[in-house]
Amino acid sequence: MASDKQPVLTMVVPCYNEQEVLPETIKRLTLVLNDLIRKDLICKQSRILFVDDGSRDATWQLIEDHNKTNNFVTGLKLSKNAGHQNALLAGLMKAKMISDCVISIDADLQDDLNVIKEFISQYKDGYDIVYGVRKSRTTDTFFKRFSAQGFYKLLNTMGVNVIYNHADYRLMSKRVLDHLSEFKETNLFLRGLIPLVGFKSTEVYYDRNERFAGESKYPLKKMLAFAFDGITSFSVTPIRLISGIGLLMFASSLLIGIYVIMNKLLGYTVTGWSSLMISIWFIGGIHLVALGLIGEYVGKIYKEVKGRPKYIIETDLQHTQQNQTVKQ
Ligand code: UDP
Ligand code: MG
Repeated sequence: MASDKQPVLTMVVPCYNEQEVLPETIKRLTLVLNDLIRKDLICKQSRILFVDDGSRDATWQLIEDHNKTNNFVTGLKLSKNAGHQNALLAGLMKAKMISDCVISIDADLQDDLNVIKEFISQYKDGYDIVYGVRKSRTTDTFFKRFSAQGFYKLLNTMGVNVIYNHADYRLMSKRVLDHLSEFKETNLFLRGLIPLVGFKSTEVYYDRNERFAGESKYPLKKMLAFAFDGITSFSVTPIRLISGIGLLMFASSLLIGIYVIMNKLLGYTVTGWSSLMISIWFIGGIHLVALGLIGEYVGKIYKEVKGRPKYIIETDLQHTQQNQTVKQ
């Protein structure tokens, strides 16, 4: 028999125009939760929270209908399409109020449900974050694989700490979500933010399936915007690149200066060429260096306005109340 001592789990599922896949998703997630409850691994108050991200098809209707007949199914409807990351955050913030741990998963059944049990057992072993990591990408198209790998590499070279081949399939404890809510930024890139929260984390590996039905809701345009957001929300490297190019141009202007003066002395030039050449390179270089310098300050402002917590305390032996975030 299921006891109430086990953790309450909420599965958060953002959905955008997912009417083709949703009935199957509900069926399979219900089976998983029932199984976990029967094995006394989670509490029977556990839920599946569907977040309808402004769908224009019958997604919300389906969520409402199942909510009437299936105790596990609950839902949030956003007023308009806010995007995957925002929909996910809306679900996580709601879920943390009603559960001990939360698993986020896409609606399309690409992520392997068999590892949920492993997620829970790692959580019980004391891990606050369990990342689902794809073992292979054989079911993805060549383009998706190629672009995704390039994206992870680019992020890492820019100093952004992301888990390789991990999307948004993960378990998080309530305290991780409590602290996540203190990251006030508007441009969300959860994959980069969650490692910043800290606490003990681990990875669970799985094979990624093909989308069960329907089409990807991440067309190229959205994918590029997402990648760009990921980079510019976490890294000032692109700004530094401007200063770098500027310095390079400045140095080149000195070499070009020598070359131009030599030409002038040897009489190979037409009037005005030498001064024009030197000015263009010299002033161009100065401009870029200045722009980079301004960029450095803009970069500082950008870090300040995010208002991220400077550190998060895990345990304070002097106080009974734990996990306070201290802001300076
Ligand atoms: N999604 C969403 N809002 C959007 C786009 C996508 O809530 O604006 C959801 C979508 O329903 C799915 C998840 O985000 O549950 C991931 O989208 P998808 O599977 O289409 O992305 P892919 O796996 O192709 O990268
Ligand atoms: Mg998908």
